[in-house]
Amino acid sequence: MSEELDRLRAENAALHERLREAEDTLHAIRGGEVDALIVGTQVYTLESADESSNRLRKDVLAQMEDAVVACDDAGHVIYLNPAAEARYGAKSSATLGRVWTELFEERWPSDEERQRAAAELAAQGVSRSHTLQLTRSGERIHAETTTSRLRDAEGAPLGTLSVIRDVTERERIEAALRESRAHLRFMLDSAGVGDWDLDLTTFVARHSLRHDQCFGYSEPLPEWRPGIFLAHVHPEEREAVKASFKAALESGGDWHFECRVVWPDRSVHWIEVHGAIYRGDGETPARMLGTILDITARKSVEEALRSADRSKDEFLATLAHELRNPLAPIRNALEILRLTREEETLESARHIIERQLRQMIHLVDDLLDISRITQGKIDLRPERIDMLTVLQNAVETSRPLIDARRHELTLKLPPADALTVRADATRLVQVIANLLNNAAKYTPEGGRIVLGAWREAGHAVVTVEDSGLGIPAPMLPRVFDMFAQVDRSLERTQGGLGIGLALVKKLVEMHGGSVRVESEGENRGSRFTVRVPTISGVPSRAQQRQRPGEGVPNEARVLIVDDNVDSATSLATMFELLGCRTAVAHDGLAAVSEAESFAPEMIVLDIGLPGISGHEAARRIRQLPGGRAMLLVAVSGWGQDADRARSLDAGFDHHLVKPVDIDVLQAMLPRRAASNVHRLDRGVSGR
Ligand code: ADP
Repeated sequence: MSEELDRLRAENAALHERLREAEDTLHAIRGGEVDALIVGTQVYTLESADESSNRLRKDVLAQMEDAVVACDDAGHVIYLNPAAEARYGAKSSATLGRVWTELFEERWPSDEERQRAAAELAAQGVSRSHTLQLTRSGERIHAETTTSRLRDAEGAPLGTLSVIRDVTERERIEAALRESRAHLRFMLDSAGVGDWDLDLTTFVARHSLRHDQCFGYSEPLPEWRPGIFLAHVHPEEREAVKASFKAALESGGDWHFECRVVWPDRSVHWIEVHGAIYRGDGETPARMLGTILDITARKSVEEALRSADRSKDEFLATLAHELRNPLAPIRNALEILRLTREEETLESARHIIERQLRQMIHLVDDLLDISRITQGKIDLRPERIDMLTVLQNAVETSRPLIDARRHELTLKLPPADALTVRADATRLVQVIANLLNNAAKYTPEGGRIVLGAWREAGHAVVTVEDSGLGIPAPMLPRVFDMFAQVDRSLERTQGGLGIGLALVKKLVEMHGGSVRVESEGENRGSRFTVRVPTISGVPSRAQQRQRPGEGVPNEARVLIVDDNVDSATSLATMFELLGCRTAVAHDGLAAVSEAESFAPEMIVLDIGLPGISGHEAARRIRQLPGGRAMLLVAVSGWGQDADRARSLDAGFDHHLVKPVDIDVLQAMLPRRAASNVHRLDRGVSGR
């Protein structure tokens, strides 16, 4: 009995519960909160009793571009708006009551993101998410979804309502933008260009790491402003850069400049900056966008090019000068040949011409050789030869110059056939003679030169040592470079182009040998050492030398000062033939003392002289008793306005350029002397 009672009670409770659910549903339906009702597998679509509110609701949802999908808690679709129908290709009638995953497959960026969205929905009743939807037709839709919880009037959970916005187009544009940014970043990075973006209201700049690297930072600096930038600019250029920035701001034009910047480690670098004003939508400049490039490497290449260009100009000037130098004595000698029949003088003049011609030929040959070697066009003709023969020939070749400069030459030679080498005899003679000539040229007159040779570790070692000018340490590694000369000033190049040693090095290396130089420094002499591999023994040939003559005394006393002995002597002979008395000096100090003792009326003074320069000699001569009355004529290979001005400044009356026209000099002779000479019958030319 009582069991029957319990069963009836339980049935009654269940019926009550169902009644309550039915009442709740009715309540929700009346409130217009529910569109469809699912009973078992049946879906019942409902209309609100309030017609007008139903229509409004439908209109709003129908107008929406966003898809709206409502689901119950089990995920069955209970509502689709027209946009959702269109997007997912699904009719409401066929879809309601089915699970939403039949509409599309949803892909989350990550599991964490999915969990985050679920937690957000649970906690706040609404969540936002960004997912990829794959529709039944295969479309991929980037969806931005806002999902809210649906509740009934009493707040009991009914399901969810999702408003789904298709952001595929926005996503595509953003992807294109990201790609274009990445592209730009790649281009800037690969070109080493930094970028910056200066806000013209706050004057704070955004900047890339590359921008900061241009200022020597490996980590980005927290802040950049115009003031911080200027503090990095080299102090010498700061004002100019500041002014150009102001000008660009005022004119609204572009900002472009190159300047030096100082890095935190104090090193100096070059940057190139471009800036352009960006107005945005408004009229007033909003930002300045810019790039920055470290151009230190380019600057140093430019400097190297400029320096190469300068070297080329210097070389051409030296070449012209060196080719013109021998012309003066040749011209003088030719005049002598015309003016005299005296055998000894004729002979001397002929020797001068020969010797000077040889020097010119030597120069031109060196030039041709070096260009042939650089182009790999020189072929050696190697044979078995005795090093002794090579050394003897070289001495013969250089003897005239060594004697002319009154050097003492000591030979420490090996016995015959002691050092046999396989070499091109002519080229090896050229090498040693070059070194001997240099020793003679770069040692003040009356110096000492030692030529020695011996065998050492399978090599013939030859040294040329002098007591001369020596080579300053910084120059030692460079003397074998093309066109390298320790002192390029005025005429101190001593009749060379700075290619002799380059030629020596190349020729020795072509013989499988080496050459090196040592010097204790200025005025401490030099030693050149050549090493060539030896084999075992054979012989070669020779040359000769000469010396100039003196002349006839007359009233006009002329002092000729030139370190080129031939130039001085030939000019002296010329003046003597014109009836003057002459004296000759070969360096600046000798010129001053000769001027004092000989008391000349006219001094023809070379500018580039050993000891003191022609300019200094002239200054001192002007200080001598009677020095003011002397006619001082400067003779130089250099004829620029600045060179003339420097001569006049030093006290010269005239500045003549080599080769000097004898008529011009003759016209300058003091009158009483000139009246006593036979006039040369060419017109006066030059200055
Ligand atoms: P050049 O003699 O035509 O100037 P070289 O190539 O022979 O050219 O020599 C290069 C430079 O090396 C010379 O200009 C000179 O300054 C220096 N030099 C060469 N030999 C000597 C030496 N024996 N003593 C001092 N300096 C020397």
